[in-house]
Amino acid sequence: MRAFEFERATDAEQAVALVASRPGAAFLGGGTNLIDHMKLGIAAPDLLVDVSRLPFDEVEEHEGGLRIGAAVRNSDLAADPRVRTRYPVLCEALVAGASGQLRNLATTGGNLLQRTRCVYFQDRTTPCNKRAPGSGCSAIRGHSRELGILGVSEHCIATHPSDMAVALAALDAVVQVHGPNGRRAVAIADLHRLPGDAPERDTTLEHGELITAVDLPPETGQSAYRKVRDRASFAFALVSVAAVLSIDDGSVADVRVALGGVAHTPWRAHIAEARLLGGPAEEAAFRAAAEAELEAASPTEENAFKVPLARNAIVAVLRELSERG
Ligand SMILES: Cc1cc2nc3c(=O)[nH]c(=O)nc-3n(C[C@H](O)[C@H](O)[C@H](O)COP(=O)(O)OP(=O)(O)OC[C@H]3O[C@@H](n4cnc5c(N)ncnc54)[C@H](O)[C@@H]3O)c2cc1C
Ligand code: SF4
Repeated sequence: MRAFEFERATDAEQAVALVASRPGAAFLGGGTNLIDHMKLGIAAPDLLVDVSRLPFDEVEEHEGGLRIGAAVRNSDLAADPRVRTRYPVLCEALVAGASGQLRNLATTGGNLLQRTRCVYFQDRTTPCNKRAPGSGCSAIRGHSRELGILGVSEHCIATHPSDMAVALAALDAVVQVHGPNGRRAVAIADLHRLPGDAPERDTTLEHGELITAVDLPPETGQSAYRKVRDRASFAFALVSVAAVLSIDDGSVADVRVALGGVAHTPWRAHIAEARLLGGPAEEAAFRAAAEAELEAASPTEENAFKVPLARNAIVAVLRELSERG
């Protein structure tokens, strides 16, 4: 067991100052991911700064949408009546994740920054560019069934595991960040990054930057989340789809589609969206758009099944939303 110090922050400024001043320090949310990594020996912070009790634990009305405090627990967020009625895609994604006990602990900030479930990342005895930069990627020629098919690189094919983040991508959420150089707002699409030649970096955040809130714009259209997985509960997505759809007189007036389980980021399906916008809201168009999005897929032999799976899941969700009107 490696010794570490523990501080419970009382405000954001103190939390940021504590972590920013120590390269080995880390924020602690619910601890359901970070503590596991400390037990596995793949994270060894010398200082944990608990941010789970900062006064960011409310969901508030904000500019016609909602502001979700970073310390709001996943189960509380899923149960919020405004989320359930106005943002069903977010509620459905949250309850599709983990288990009731985990959701009771997991925070909004920590959920966004949870790390990949690639088995080699979690196994210190194997090469992994994300855990040990330059050591190689064991997955590309190894076990890759659960890993990425879009935006992958020769250095890493890991996927981002969060269900909630996929729904937030389809909702065009904005992440509020407080750092040593002040505050900034980060579009959810700019928070996570593709692996490229630096897969050790999951996000665009700098050391010491604290997520304080996530803003949801006013809701538009029907929305839904579908998760395809090996078991009905307590399993990460093989493929998931979050979608928001508005139809006007039989045509697609607005559409936003994000995919989970396929990339290092929640994958926003911009190609499919561009194909759909203004066209007929019908199954053939949904299928053509999904196929266009997946043309760039670069699967391994083990995870090639994700290409038709993602296509069919996109079509199924859009069809379901179009039938609601
Ligand atoms: C068995 C199991 C099954 C699971 N299944 C699923 C699933 O199906 N779907 C799914 O989406 N998730 C799943 N999870 C993951 C779970 O959702 C995450 O562990 C959880 O959301 C992480 O939140 P946390 O608050 O506990 O984060 P922590 O473990 O506390 O922190 C995670 C990371 O975020 C950083 N951090 C925390 N808060 C902040 C902040 N405010 N600002 C900046 N950095 C911060 C920490 O330093 C750390 O790097 C599962 C987990 C387990 C153990
Ligand atoms: S896919 Fe990424 S996380 Fe998995 S072994 Fe390769 S480098 Fe590591």
